Amino acid sequence: MSGAPLDVARIRADFPILHQEVRGRPLVYLDSAATTQKPQAVIDALVRYYTHDNANVHRGVHALSERATLAYEGARERVRRFINARETKEIIFVRGCTEAINLVAYTFGRSKVGPGDEVLITAMEHHSDIVPWQMLCQQVGATLKVVPVDERGDLRLDQLDVLLTERTRLLAVTHVSNALGTVNPVRDIIRRAHARGVPVLVDGAQAPAHFRVDVQALDCDFYALSGHKMFGPTGIGVLYGKAAVLESMPPWQGGGDMILSVTMEKTVYNRLPYRLEAGTPDISGAIGLAAAMDYIDSVGLDAISAHDQALLEYGARALESVPGLRLMSQARERSGVLSFIMEDVHAHDVGTILDREGVAIRAGHHCAQPLLSCFGVAATVRASLAMYNTREDIDALVRGLHKVREVFA
Ligand code: PLP
Repeated sequence: MSGAPLDVARIRADFPILHQEVRGRPLVYLDSAATTQKPQAVIDALVRYYTHDNANVHRGVHALSERATLAYEGARERVRRFINARETKEIIFVRGCTEAINLVAYTFGRSKVGPGDEVLITAMEHHSDIVPWQMLCQQVGATLKVVPVDERGDLRLDQLDVLLTERTRLLAVTHVSNALGTVNPVRDIIRRAHARGVPVLVDGAQAPAHFRVDVQALDCDFYALSGHKMFGPTGIGVLYGKAAVLESMPPWQGGGDMILSVTMEKTVYNRLPYRLEAGTPDISGAIGLAAAMDYIDSVGLDAISAHDQALLEYGARALESVPGLRLMSQARERSGVLSFIMEDVHAHDVGTILDREGVAIRAGHHCAQPLLSCFGVAATVRASLAMYNTREDIDALVRGLHKVREVFA
């Protein structure tokens, strides 16, 4: 199907959850930035695994354990291919973006960041790419610096070279803002950081459901993914790290699988990627994530990107018909998110009225309070899109917003 326009009706048929009524109305799901829905292929992969193959990995000599190990390690190879990493040992399975970033903050951070050093983030980070760095800086006596955002919703990249100093030990930046939809020029940002010898972590939570991510082309040192935001299960995610960087990091959690041998005097740690994966991993989650990647590739990311962009533009135009509605972002490049406020109506009231119409959106700070405060607001309404959304979904949203206007007239 790759290369052809998206057959959205066929895609929708693959997502059983979409075919239901909510509050007596057909469900219109516009909350995919919070979590995406799952295609039948992912649900089937989970059921198949638990029905036929469930066993613990790496340790067993019996057939089921061998099958589970093959499937789990096969999922690692699937992820490697999906993001074009060089080697499978660069793929660390974690719970999600939050855990990936915390892992880096604890291991890389606590071994490479010291008193007087600086960690650079941006004003448009999700809380999970702010708080771990604040905690690190407080603990080691480092300073957190922030690249500001302009009024259009773009990063102030004119500030980047000033903020990157000889004390900067890491730059962490989101690929796509979950609150505004801004797509940051991460390739350029990484190049500029590397020119100053600064490694870069990219928070990729909102990217891979919408466009191709190639970690070698980006040349990022770390890339964090959440499976549930790319049509996979909750509870599984990925930390990609360049092999040389991961090798230089001490282990994080201690326990089974991350060791080669243990005596009461000394532990010899395992090689990558196992050294950073203590304990029984989320085996079924990894298998489900691999199935999600198969699904995305079977649809084709070029077609998905084109569909998402066209829908975003349609949505931005359609929202203009709603009196007193202000779209938050005018950023140069955007993906997947329509974030707005309505004059004289609280975002939560908008959400409640839309819910009665069967339209699921998110209202609030979207775990990006510092960003929203840059715009002088405490909450926005966020409609977020995925490959299964249609113009009819946008039309239902706009009809609902006109009802909100009537109620608050
Ligand atoms: N980063 C961004 C940009 C996000 O949108 C999110 C979740 O909304 C996260 C990080 C955290 O992801 P998770 O909750 O899956 O760990």
